[in-house]
Amino acid sequence: MNLVLMGLPGAGKGTQAEKIVAKYNIPHISTGDMFRSAIKEGTELGIKAKSFMDKGALVPDEVTIGIVRERLSKEDCEKGFLLDGFPRTVAQAEALEYMLADLGKKIDYVINIDVDSDILMERLTGRRICKNCGATYHLVFNPPSQEGICDRCGGELYQRADDNADTVQNRLDVNIQQTKPLLNFYEEKGYLRNINGQQDINIVFTAIDELLGGLQ
Ligand code: AMP
Repeated sequence: MNLVLMGLPGAGKGTQAEKIVAKYNIPHISTGDMFRSAIKEGTELGIKAKSFMDKGALVPDEVTIGIVRERLSKEDCEKGFLLDGFPRTVAQAEALEYMLADLGKKIDYVINIDVDSDILMERLTGRRICKNCGATYHLVFNPPSQEGICDRCGGELYQRADDNADTVQNRLDVNIQQTKPLLNFYEEKGYLRNINGQQDINIVFTAIDELLGGLQ
């Protein structure tokens, strides 16, 4: 079960990744997590990655491809893997094809959790945080009982600067532009499976689970 998981910010990719790896017992390979732990450990890779991540830029392909190649050749990937956050460029996608062919493998599915961007805007801009205790709410999905006030401590709720509409729209636009060529690449290869992400979390997972059931 060799999988790539894709989805825009707010689509619920993290939630579904957790459910997939728990049920199918395959390693969750997130390049973002790998870079963050390398930074925490202060390794050479971490130092290199940090300078790009701090600027909000992609880590260069040769660095990223190298760590994925090393990770995929480990024994725990024998029965499959879930790639999350990789590939992010067509060059990475092509490199993945080659490295998997070298290992005698291929991708089974690229699962794209599909959510309209106006719904993602609503999900991403609705977050409110308590100034006092840090509790998080959502205006639509998890509202406080009294507007603007924390249920837990009575503190004032605020919106984080990077959750405002302009910043979120920009983040979504950049992601859509980055993702488009990848989705085309995988569509042409016949790996792409779009899953409707505008449904309850458990229904989204059921749809993924039905797809994956066919691989076993
Ligand atoms: P993520 O947690 O997936 O959002 O990744 C956090 C950051 O790590 C990104 O903003 C990039 O700087 C870097 N990163 C993660 N995956 C990749 C990738 N496949 N290619 C390049 N940079 C990446």
